[in-house]
Amino acid sequence: MPTYWTRTLIPTLRELPSEAEVPSHQLMLRAGYIRKLGSGVYDYLPLGWRSLRKIMEIIRQEMAAAGAVEVSLPALIPLDLYQKTGRDQAYGDNLFRLKDRHGRLQALGPTHEEVVTEMVGGYIDSYKQLPLTLYQIQTKFRDEYRPRFGVLRSREFLMKDAYSFHTRVDGPGGLGETYQAQFDAYCRIFRRCGLDYVTVEAESGPIGGSASHEFMVPSPTGEDTILESDRQNYAANVEKCEIGRRTQNLQGPVRGDLEKVATPNFPTIETVAQFLKTEPRRVLKTLVYEASLEPALKVKAEHALEAAAEPSPRAFVSERFFVLAVVRGDHDVNEAKLTSVIRGINPRIQTVTLMEQHDALRHGFTIGYVGPHAVAGEAITRLVVDFDAAQDADWVAGANEVDHHVRHFNWQREVLGRGGEPVVADIRNALEGDPSPRDDGGVLKARKGIEVGHVFKLGTKYSTALEVTAQDDKGERHPMIMGCYGIGVNRILAAVIERAAAGQEGHDANGMILPSAIAPYPVVITTIRHQGAAKDLADKLAAELEQIPGVDVLIDDRDERPGVKFKDADLIGIPLRITLGDKSLAKGEVEMKPRRAAKADLVPVGEAVKRAAELLKQL
Ligand code: ATP
Ligand code: MG
Repeated sequence: MPTYWTRTLIPTLRELPSEAEVPSHQLMLRAGYIRKLGSGVYDYLPLGWRSLRKIMEIIRQEMAAAGAVEVSLPALIPLDLYQKTGRDQAYGDNLFRLKDRHGRLQALGPTHEEVVTEMVGGYIDSYKQLPLTLYQIQTKFRDEYRPRFGVLRSREFLMKDAYSFHTRVDGPGGLGETYQAQFDAYCRIFRRCGLDYVTVEAESGPIGGSASHEFMVPSPTGEDTILESDRQNYAANVEKCEIGRRTQNLQGPVRGDLEKVATPNFPTIETVAQFLKTEPRRVLKTLVYEASLEPALKVKAEHALEAAAEPSPRAFVSERFFVLAVVRGDHDVNEAKLTSVIRGINPRIQTVTLMEQHDALRHGFTIGYVGPHAVAGEAITRLVVDFDAAQDADWVAGANEVDHHVRHFNWQREVLGRGGEPVVADIRNALEGDPSPRDDGGVLKARKGIEVGHVFKLGTKYSTALEVTAQDDKGERHPMIMGCYGIGVNRILAAVIERAAAGQEGHDANGMILPSAIAPYPVVITTIRHQGAAKDLADKLAAELEQIPGVDVLIDDRDERPGVKFKDADLIGIPLRITLGDKSLAKGEVEMKPRRAAKADLVPVGEAVKRAAELLKQL
């Protein structure tokens, strides 16, 4: 059955909503796809919901083809389940928490590793029952610090999340096999939704685990930065992106006495550099981190960093482990890289977090004015320096005294000569122009992207924490090996609208341009006057068009001026418009206009359905 415009709810707006910054957000509001209810919370109106359902149908088909089975897990989850895996902490304020009437703490699920692992543990206990891949399409809740860009980053959103369980990594039935099957399914899903994507190596974030890839849609409005080698053999997101070979030189000659200069009222590296007549790239930026152990190991803190490579007067033997991370003033510390350097020194370190200012001050670190030569009271501090900061140059650095910097900082004199042993490592974010980590002469290029999907090789993090084991073929019990695979359903729709590839743009000045696979209706039949022959023909064509698989029809039966009807059809992004006007009908013709075409074609009534079917294959 076709849908009549007057019988549904399509509240289109002419004005640009003031709060919307990106095209997908603006257009979804203007086209009557969504309505804002609260911060990061949206109603889906009939058009928006139809599109989402089409995306979900594509996902369901491809999940089934990849051997995954659908379940539905609750959004309301006892908090203690997250406490068992430590994710109540790892998710931090992003986790919605609430208390029920009996005082029991609950969480609204941001993702469901714990829930699905608990469930599988209840029924599966042998390799004979594995592998198993379960998925759901369900509402997730995340109290995002900054919900924005409409449904691109909302606080309540639909996710397809799949979880696989194995007793082995390699070989038939192993994690590797399912990971590849999900990866391939993602490629088909995004292609069917009309999205050009790139896959990038990614850091695993709070979900933990070892290997992961993200699916990114290149778009100038994306919040993620993708770095790709111009040799086309490496792509990663900025959290993960490694940098090719660099060398260090801490031995450079002294260029002058260490000179303390008062620098009050210069809140940024740029202003300090300007005042001292140098550039940010000649200023050492020193950040203070704290490394913490697994909770259970805290008592043994004195021995925590016994694995520190060389014996050194500055070896970690204290309960407080401070890390001074030094990068060039124009660079940013990459916390994932820093964490892995620290874990290389001691694998039991769990987290490395930037210290709060008041806490750092208590331990003698004059935040804003810390230099690599800081010695903080009794605390023991490890110095980790990025390659580009570990160079021979006339450095400016913090003076370890409020409102002061030093000039002519020299690594040899200020640090090495005083018994300091910096670890030199890659701890900064990669930038456009950096050498590719493949070390093949490739150079990194940067662009923005929207993360639409993410696949992880989780390993045994959750099964170990929740004691979910299976017997292998030798009769031995091991925690199950897991993978998890997420897709942002609403984000796909927004990303399609944001598409920027030439000829594939997801919008133009008149509105959205949706591919027929996910448009709420592939066809709109617009009658110039909805009566008589035009009205009857609209119904007849709609009935015939709806015989074509995947085609449903919207009939614009409103008593509106043609200009208004055409504008709205463009705004809501319907791929093909068939117009029935008295003049052309008198000649036995209808007008047919693909959304992207500059003008309409006249087609004999008798050929309209066949012609529409051909056109829709390309739309
Ligand atoms: P991001 O880095 O964008 O915050 P994430 O890496 O935390 O996302 P995952 O845990 O990997 O997200 O979730 C799987 C997918 O869910 C993401 O690839 C994304 O498409 C979608 N998603 C995550 N957060 C949101 C959100 N706040 N709004 C809409 N979609 C989201
Ligand atoms: Mg992710």
